[in-house]
Amino acid sequence: MTIRRDLLEHAGHLRLGTELLHDPKRNKGTAFTDAERDALRLRGLLPPHVFTEAEQAQRALANIRRAPDDLQRYMAMTALQDRNETLYFRVLADNLTELMPIVYTPTVGEACQKFGHIFQRPRGLFVSAADRGRIGEVLRNWPASDVRVIVVTDGERILGLGDLGAHGMGIPVGKLNLYAACAGVDPRKCLPITLDVGTNNAALRDDVLYVGLRQPRITGAAYDELVEELVTEVARNYPYALLQFEDFGNHNAFRLLARYRNRLCCFNDDIQGTAAVALAGMLSALRVTGGRLRDQRILFLGAGEAGTGIADLVTAELVATGMPDAAARRVCWFVDSQGLVTSQRQDLAAHKRPYAHEHAAIVDLLAAVRTLRPTALIGASGQPQTFTQPIVAAMAEHHDRPLIFALSNPTSKAECTAEQAYQWSGGRAIFASGSPFAPVELDGHRHVPGQGNNAYIFPGVGLGVVASGARRVPDKMFRIAARTLADLTADADLASGCLYPPLADIRAVSLQIAIAVATFAYANELATGPRPDDVAAHVRSFVFEPNYVSYV
Ligand code: NAD
Repeated sequence: MTIRRDLLEHAGHLRLGTELLHDPKRNKGTAFTDAERDALRLRGLLPPHVFTEAEQAQRALANIRRAPDDLQRYMAMTALQDRNETLYFRVLADNLTELMPIVYTPTVGEACQKFGHIFQRPRGLFVSAADRGRIGEVLRNWPASDVRVIVVTDGERILGLGDLGAHGMGIPVGKLNLYAACAGVDPRKCLPITLDVGTNNAALRDDVLYVGLRQPRITGAAYDELVEELVTEVARNYPYALLQFEDFGNHNAFRLLARYRNRLCCFNDDIQGTAAVALAGMLSALRVTGGRLRDQRILFLGAGEAGTGIADLVTAELVATGMPDAAARRVCWFVDSQGLVTSQRQDLAAHKRPYAHEHAAIVDLLAAVRTLRPTALIGASGQPQTFTQPIVAAMAEHHDRPLIFALSNPTSKAECTAEQAYQWSGGRAIFASGSPFAPVELDGHRHVPGQGNNAYIFPGVGLGVVASGARRVPDKMFRIAARTLADLTADADLASGCLYPPLADIRAVSLQIAIAVATFAYANELATGPRPDDVAAHVRSFVFEPNYVSYV
């Protein structure tokens, strides 16, 4: 009997028996075969019947479903990941429609809010302000040396829930689980990082179960130097990794992206990933309404990372099709917490200024909708129930099929629900939301809302970047991802009201996005290594399948 030492050795040490059962990356539990039980000194440590992975998955799913609420289901999934990663990804990848709302938005929001209270085992790397000067050492404590995707947050703007400090770790963990489940990026090459710079959430600091530094956030030069050290050490220790910035406050998000985007392979998902999923939704919607993108008037509520990110990508798409930049910018209009963003305003941050058009001041959204008569209304404000009945009705009064996107997460922060959008528009709204909503029956018609969430984008972009070894992530990759996603939305999906392919197809969708992104990288001298003859086959060869391997 030959033992596959290459699959079992860890830090030069061959794992056997109990140790193997407690290693979630290699554990197969009751699926270890008779031959493996003999060779690996597992006999007697497991009940005698050998189960298949499919049978184990059936049992795991039944247990998760039995949990009394979504937070308990989240904890059951986390416990499964702590025991047996292959089985975790098998169950998640095969049941994404059911389980994505558990491991990701909306439940991950509640899990972050209660992180210290439900904490069982650490996952990911906690780098804190106290580690200044030795972040390289901290990174080298991570057990894997071949890291290809890193998601980092500083926890300042977790979903629409605000500053959750170190409890934001649920987000990088959740995002990276989707990289693996939705696109097949190898989870052993993924690294979640929380940069704990303190928290300004006093209630958290006072909570005896808070896991992070109990101090206000560091700011200014101290903050920048810490981020600089982290990024430098990431580049030094993991030169082939893609770095995704996630859920930073917008006063840092735009700056950090501008500082690092040409220095290493990185992107900001809230700005760029969201932009791609929203652009894809708009391109799909135009197949229903029949218009051209350039003729739309898009009104955003919320001029932050998501809103202005979307507007920048829409502008880039229009400019690429020949429209002058200034005219393209006028397609997008913004209402922020101070009212309509106009050229008279003196209080505007740099990312809003390109959309500060000549116009009289308007203070509220309803008046802006009545005056501007937008064809699309996009919510990215984190402010729930701000798309009120009169606002949705005004959208429907001016247009036969108004676009209404309530992108704020989690569900409790959505600008309106699917049911409200359909009901208040007489069933005519084309609706998408950041967190999932169930289909709505209205006047004998079934409306299926699409989930306009960047989960349709980042896993595929990530797989394409990893497979091609892309050294940068230019905006064009997100336009390509958006077009690919829109093209994969079937007429039947559109007929039911859904602007995206079903979540159940997301692995196939992500693969196509990855192939398109990798093809672009090879054609534009961004890739590492020569272009393979068959790019699609090359990308496919990187796809991780959650199947057990044989150790003997
Ligand atoms: P952000 O903090 O960068 O921007 C929020 C913006 O909303 C700010 O400009 C703020 O001034 C504005 N705002 C706050 N209160 C307002 C009010 N009452 N009226 C009008 N504007 C108001 O945050 P962000 O990254 O843009 O995220 C915003 C929301 O979008 C969050 O809920 C987030 O979860 C969601 N989001 C969704 C996706 C997705 O894939 N669907 C992706 C990213 C972000």
